[in-house]
Amino acid sequence: MRPEILYPLFKPVTTLKGVGPRIANAIKKAIGNKGGGNEGGGNEGGGNEGGEIVDLLWHLPVGVIDRSYQPTVMAAEPGRIATLSITVGKHEAPRNKRLPYRIKCFDDSGEITLVFFHAHSDYLKKTMPEGEPRVISGTIEHYQGAVQMTHPDHMVKPDEIEGILGLEPIYPLSAGVSQKVMGKIISGALCHATALPEWLDDAYVKKMNWPTWGDAIAKAHNPENEIDLQPDSPARKRLAYDELLANQLALGLVRNGMRRAKGRPIIGDGILRKKVLDTLSFELTASQTTAISEIDADMKSDIRMLRLLQGDVGSGKTVVALMAMLSAVEAGGQGALMAPTEVLARQHMRTIEPLASAAGIEIILLTGREKGKNREAILSALASGKTTIAIGTHALFQDDVVYHDLRIAVIDEQHRFGVHQRLSLTDKGNAVDVMVMTATPIPRTLMLTAYGDMDVSRLLEKPKGRKPIDTRVMPISKLDKLIEAMDRKIKTGARAFWVCPLVEESEKLDLSAAEDRFEYLRSRFGEKVGLVHGRMKAKEKDAAMQAFAEGSISILVATTVIEVGVDVSAATVMVVEHAERFGLAQLHQLRGRVGRGDNSSSCILLYQAPLGETANARLEIMRSTEDGFVIAEEDLRLRGSGELLGTKQSGLPRFRLGDVAQLGELIQIARDDTELILNKDPGLKSERSKALRVLLYLFQRDGAIKYLRSG
Ligand code: ADP
Ligand code: MG
Repeated sequence: MRPEILYPLFKPVTTLKGVGPRIANAIKKAIGNKGGGNEGGGNEGGGNEGGEIVDLLWHLPVGVIDRSYQPTVMAAEPGRIATLSITVGKHEAPRNKRLPYRIKCFDDSGEITLVFFHAHSDYLKKTMPEGEPRVISGTIEHYQGAVQMTHPDHMVKPDEIEGILGLEPIYPLSAGVSQKVMGKIISGALCHATALPEWLDDAYVKKMNWPTWGDAIAKAHNPENEIDLQPDSPARKRLAYDELLANQLALGLVRNGMRRAKGRPIIGDGILRKKVLDTLSFELTASQTTAISEIDADMKSDIRMLRLLQGDVGSGKTVVALMAMLSAVEAGGQGALMAPTEVLARQHMRTIEPLASAAGIEIILLTGREKGKNREAILSALASGKTTIAIGTHALFQDDVVYHDLRIAVIDEQHRFGVHQRLSLTDKGNAVDVMVMTATPIPRTLMLTAYGDMDVSRLLEKPKGRKPIDTRVMPISKLDKLIEAMDRKIKTGARAFWVCPLVEESEKLDLSAAEDRFEYLRSRFGEKVGLVHGRMKAKEKDAAMQAFAEGSISILVATTVIEVGVDVSAATVMVVEHAERFGLAQLHQLRGRVGRGDNSSSCILLYQAPLGETANARLEIMRSTEDGFVIAEEDLRLRGSGELLGTKQSGLPRFRLGDVAQLGELIQIARDDTELILNKDPGLKSERSKALRVLLYLFQRDGAIKYLRSG
């Protein structure tokens, strides 16, 4: 239950004065999709449509306006923001509506004209009655020798001057909220930010010279100069640290909860594994062997496994996963492998099936497509234990799916699943070990914030015999040349992926771009071109993939990332259009789809000129290295973490009060702090821990608290 002290902060924003549903919506847009609260254990409260007051507190100013300059009209410097005490003169309504409405004003030194476009004359006549004294504030302009001010920011009575003279924070806005309205609403929200108990270590707060939470929020919203706006100002740094600590603490609690939940030691006899290893046409890499022994150690111990297997695309994670599942099967249990999409689930099925049958075990595929009698048969085989390995999508973990004795759940491409989903899987059996696989080369700093609760194995080297991929960056204006080269390649039997532009968050536009490109390539290469996109029926997708895998199609046009996991080892060319719009991690994943077979491969990154400096640098990184970790670190450096994975669905936690790219050192401190806290007081019972619970609720990471109870 949320602590009472936080109730005021979690009221809907619509309870604030002057905020109706329309404004609430506009505010939500301005605050944007900065996420938060969705990782590290999820949240119990929240989910309010228009947002809550607390969301406003995290919406920090990006600038500050100083309105203390009070010259006379004639002395006012053009371009400066000035606050003037004037007398209102004549109103001049235009005859033509498109011309501006003007109000002449004056002081002892001279005259200033106020200019309004699309004016509401009734309103102006009411606020600025002729002959009355008024205070106005805005930017001074000189126009055709006269002094003027267009749309003053403030127009008030003389006795209200104190309200505007000070410093004014500038907030990021969206259509539908003006600076003035946003400022008012946020100062309304700040009234609800009462003092909270201190959750940080007193000595550390002293050492850093940080304000209390309440003072930090107040200070962050009332900057006095540019320095106060910097991320390393004490107030902002403290708030950023609070958020990091909430994140680490939530992960720590989940981790502890999982740990203390006893596991069941799994000790295989190695017989099934040996059969599979004997049928492999290759030797395991050193990293694969190490990862397998780390997993073995986890599985043998009597605490539950919670391990992340991180390896670049093509580094051979699937075999490692299979080995882990085989151990469980050897020990008399079952294993399940969950992929984020049906296409990927099918692909795992294709890879694993022959190996499993060599070992003489039965595996099944379960996705949303298995229905009726077929599904019933699958469910009964899982319930009876006849089937020992199941591969599929989240359909594997629906309520009515019962396992005979599920011992290990492997989750592929975890970044698309939330922590919650990950944990719900473990409800399917008795003390299920969990292994998560990801191909996203997450930089170390981010690793901690996203997977701080897991042990990590990394596959560092690629399997032997992989050839480097020739990566080229070229403008779309050279499309003709590319088509000619493509023609030559295809005549030698090459196969190419052609990935179409990512259109900002719009599936519809993505689709039309892909269809246009498909038509164009068809006109050039005829029947050799296929199309696959997210809106196609599963059957059609399979058919297109199949045709490409068999070679009856040479060029497969695809929308964005939906199908990137697909493994067609004969494909040697990857074309990405509008490469500048993709995140580097995505480009890296896409490129990883080629270079898997014996032939040398190439990747062509097409861009729309002109390229900005950062975009240029990013594509250059792609050209110069194939090392996913280097790419991820560079991407983080160039763009900051917010954009790291290019899409909003990345599932990595986003921080509202700081950019992880700049917070590396603080993350480590938060991690160490968390370890100390949980070692000393694992039940979160001490005085400080009570405050820490408030912190978890404040950042909506309270879902983690339930691991205290169940643990
Ligand atoms: P990913 O890590 O992207 O999931 P996969 O597990 O799909 O990679 O492996 C990619 C390809 O490499 C597969 O065809 C697999 O059979 C092959 N492979 C895996 N391990 C090795 C190895 N040690 N040597 C050679 N090829 C390997
Ligand atoms: Mg894979």
